[in-house]
Amino acid sequence: MSSDQTGARPQWRGVIEEYRPLLDLPEGTPAVSLGEGGTPLVHSEWLSGLTGGDVWLKIEGDNPTGSFKDRGMTAAISVAVHEGAKAVVCASTGNTSASMAAYAARAGLTPIVLVPEGKIAAGKMAQAIMHGAEILMVRGNFDDCLRMSRGLADHYPVALVNSVNPVRLEGQKTASFEVVDRLGDAPDYHLLPVGNAGNISAYWLGYKQYAALGRASRKPVMRAFQAEGAAPLVTGKPFPHPETKATAIRIGNPASWKLADAAAAESGGRFAALSDEAILSAQRELARRDGVFVEPASAAGVAGMLSELDAGESYAGATVVITVTGHGLKDTVTALEGVGSLVDTVIDADVEAAAAAAGLG
Ligand SMILES: *Cc1c(COP(=O)(O)O)cnc(C)c1O
Repeated sequence: MSSDQTGARPQWRGVIEEYRPLLDLPEGTPAVSLGEGGTPLVHSEWLSGLTGGDVWLKIEGDNPTGSFKDRGMTAAISVAVHEGAKAVVCASTGNTSASMAAYAARAGLTPIVLVPEGKIAAGKMAQAIMHGAEILMVRGNFDDCLRMSRGLADHYPVALVNSVNPVRLEGQKTASFEVVDRLGDAPDYHLLPVGNAGNISAYWLGYKQYAALGRASRKPVMRAFQAEGAAPLVTGKPFPHPETKATAIRIGNPASWKLADAAAAESGGRFAALSDEAILSAQRELARRDGVFVEPASAAGVAGMLSELDAGESYAGATVVITVTGHGLKDTVTALEGVGSLVDTVIDADVEAAAAAAGLG
């Protein structure tokens, strides 16, 4: 029986099939997909109340491997398959490798991952391992890994799928399409974390494209946030030794630096830096107040909004989208470091004891 006869609802087809005519992909590119994209835009009662605006969270942790990286990876792996690649390589702070390994597994390609020694969250590493990646730990930082990935792709039969590959941005820009499709227009402001700067560049590409097509009447002001220990876009200088607990944005020399600068300048936006404490505190507040558990780096947009409010900035009456980039379960160790004791009370197996300990009745 066809789905029409059973009454089954069609499911979301992944970003390539949903938006193919709007993506600059080679003719006949297959779609290697895990159903990425179509992520929820959740209204934040907490932040809307604080600002007097309408604040929405774009929950990118709901992608198949738990971060927005899947949007670009479906495109990069699909094109690699189309071009006959047998192996793919990336440098990663964790999420790119998790995503690449999953899509490469699906496509039957060999995934090769370069990660900085000792700085990858356990959940992300587990994903790359489970999907069968060849993992090479480099005595160096992310920027060293990226330089090596480029070198491998230049001299050996392996395709580079970092966001310096422009196909990644084609996939990632679908997030702004989804925002506009859901809200009916572009928001006034878009806030997000920034590391290697592929994501802000992709969002801006998407917003510009929708405005040019007349699907949005305006483009948002882009405000992007880094960690103080890894804030090259704020200071204008590379950080040779980037340091932050928000490992997904621990990047000292962003590959898409120029595109990110253009996005901020053209949109009337800016970059700002936040302390790790501010980022981790925003992560905890978001989990407690809105029920949304994100990884540390993913909370930078929320932390940014809170610090701007402290500084007297107003979002009253504005529509704001904040991208929360990846799932909290990726890095539970860092999340729990900021919490005192993990279990509140140990009691006997007894209802009255539980009620008393929980303060009921
Ligand atoms: C990759 C990543 C970022 C940074 O995105 P860029 O495109 O590198 O600026 C932020 N948060 C998470 C969870 C990520 O995986």
